[in-house]
Amino acid sequence: MMVLNSLKKDELVELVPNEGNVLRWYTCGPTVYDSSHLGHARNYVTFDFIRRIISDYFGYEVFYCMNITDIDDKIILRSRRNYLISEYIKKNPIVTETLISDLNTAWPKFINGLKEDLEKNLEEQKKKPNKQELKAEADLLTTRIKQSEDAFSAQMKIIKLGENSSAPVATAEQCLGSYLDKLYGKDLDSELVKKLCDQHSKKFEKEFFDDMKALGIQPPDVLVRVSEYVPEVIEMVQQIIENGYGYESEGSVYFDIHKFHHTPGHAYAKLKPSSAGNLKKFAEGEGALAATEDRISKFDFALWKKSKPGEPSWPSPWGPGRPGWHIECSAMASVILGKVLDVHCGGVDLKFPHHDNELAQAEACYGHDQWVNYFLHSGHLDIDGLKMSKSMKNFITIREAFQKLKYTPRQLRFYFLLHTWCKRMNFQVKEGMGDIEKKEKFVIEFLTKVKQLISEDTSQPNESWTPNDVALHNTLLKTQTEVDAALKNNFDTKTAILLLIDLISAVNSYLSSKDRKTLLVSKIRDYVLRIFGVFGLNFSTSSVTEGASGVSTEDIVRPYARALVDFRNQVREGAKKKEGHDYFLVSCDNLRDKVTPPLGIKIVDDGEFDFYLVDKDQYLEELKNKQIDNIKAQIQKKTTQLKAKETAFNKWEDLRISPSELVLKKYNVTMESEEVPALNNAGGKVSDQNKKKILTDWKKQLTNNTKFNDELAKNPEFYEKLKNDYEKIKKEIQDLQSKIPT
Ligand SMILES: [Zn+2]
Repeated sequence: MMVLNSLKKDELVELVPNEGNVLRWYTCGPTVYDSSHLGHARNYVTFDFIRRIISDYFGYEVFYCMNITDIDDKIILRSRRNYLISEYIKKNPIVTETLISDLNTAWPKFINGLKEDLEKNLEEQKKKPNKQELKAEADLLTTRIKQSEDAFSAQMKIIKLGENSSAPVATAEQCLGSYLDKLYGKDLDSELVKKLCDQHSKKFEKEFFDDMKALGIQPPDVLVRVSEYVPEVIEMVQQIIENGYGYESEGSVYFDIHKFHHTPGHAYAKLKPSSAGNLKKFAEGEGALAATEDRISKFDFALWKKSKPGEPSWPSPWGPGRPGWHIECSAMASVILGKVLDVHCGGVDLKFPHHDNELAQAEACYGHDQWVNYFLHSGHLDIDGLKMSKSMKNFITIREAFQKLKYTPRQLRFYFLLHTWCKRMNFQVKEGMGDIEKKEKFVIEFLTKVKQLISEDTSQPNESWTPNDVALHNTLLKTQTEVDAALKNNFDTKTAILLLIDLISAVNSYLSSKDRKTLLVSKIRDYVLRIFGVFGLNFSTSSVTEGASGVSTEDIVRPYARALVDFRNQVREGAKKKEGHDYFLVSCDNLRDKVTPPLGIKIVDDGEFDFYLVDKDQYLEELKNKQIDNIKAQIQKKTTQLKAKETAFNKWEDLRISPSELVLKKYNVTMESEEVPALNNAGGKVSDQNKKKILTDWKKQLTNNTKFNDELAKNPEFYEKLKNDYEKIKKEIQDLQSKIPT
């Protein structure tokens, strides 16, 4: 396995563990002061797939340690500024003359600071006219100055006395923060600042690990935070002083570069000798709060920094202070992994001064000349040809990459895998992912096709190989050999992936023939999946993978997700419309009775368990029978009600008929008073006996009908209502009957 070792420059060297099969590996983790961006994503994804290739493909045991820098000038400044800004808003909830005057002071100060930086840069460019880095930085500064000036004048035009102060303060946050910090930062209690720093770094550490998890990055075996290793750091600093390579000055301790570099067996800036005199990079490594006047050489870096007022501190033999940035990695890596590391990795930006200083410190402490055997540096990441920067508006956090740009973790990893890990990468936000999507789709379609082939092939086909089968298998063997060679050649994942894609193309043409060997095809599928798996490209959770039952995870999950989302929508709708609690109870019952049973979930109120996973068909049958019983009981109840209504209705129905109607119907005679006519309507004579009967009936019905009319006078709707109620119950019974499931 040949790798590019930054300590050996331009040639690849063989990676051999110091002891047996184990690789002791240290990686520089983040300084947790802000959100992680795509550059971080590339760095950590890169070392994740290299780690997987080394352990899962080449079979080495990797012991992987990562640090978190949670004591740092950037963290101190950020948390102090955030605190001062929030206190400022509390004191100035509305815009006052004082607030306007503060903005008028803070903003120009900030802009002038940027202008001074630009002037320095232009001076520097006169000395080094061809330095691209300086030019890029000048462009960046020019943009920032312009943006700040525009923001300032726009804000001052619209600001109004008495309005809520949070918006104008938010616009001016950066300059107001540094203005307030210059005024009050040093007066803050050191213990308070320690607490603020702790809260700040914990927040961003959590965010960092959430991002890493989303990117599918394996966690380290050991996580070390500098705040938890201060005594070990002090011990190492003491040893370096004892060995003559460090000195105390004004409560800080510095590394004596001259002494170290001129001692036989040692050399300073092994990784990047060309940067050894780069004051700007040196200053960045030292941090914005570092003292500058108390060193023998201006390039002597801090091992231990004296803490000034308003800065967190830990006790030490040199007074209260805190670790310098570089010493933490040397100390913690040695505590966990021992005095010699097999592999140390990090982003290329860390080469100088951070990694060069780590090397010098460890060598100065242990007296050997090689602390790290293999130094791996992942390449830089540009966005659409430009350096990523917040002011250039091309700054993409990992979260934005997922949420706004809609990249998936697999796509990002695929993208990084298709670039040489140690080379600079130009990340193309729009066009770049199109190619990845195509490749991803190509792989998925292949896996789907193979799945189909295997599921359809239930017979025992003829497995004797034809020349066609032998040829395909030879392609597989050739691919396996070449992928192996690519991975041994400095983890050339790009070549390996392209070889796999060629192999898939070969299978695709093979599949178009009629005589296909299932065993051969599934062997190739398994190989392709295994190598993608080694890279951390997981295709097994997509819809193409066969689970134990031959159903994909997605297909299993979808109906449950649907039920969950529908229920959520119902609840949201109800809440928006301010529905009463009945609405929500009905929704819950509906979920229990209608939605979850077909999914084989039996939800139980007041049971020993909230739910059971049951046999779907059996449970549906049980529910059906319960429903039939329930409807039948309702019909029973309604029928009783109907009978009562019917009796009442029939009674009034009899009384409702007028005496004239009654005698017409019964005897076919027409009479309007108590005088019975001689002839009926058919012209027949009415006998005396009948006349008597008719008159009796007439009188009786007159009394009855009077009762009815009296009731109607009292309650004009009573008859209609009775009739409607009766009809209604009749209809309800019919409806219930139609609802009985068959
Ligand atoms: Zn480090």
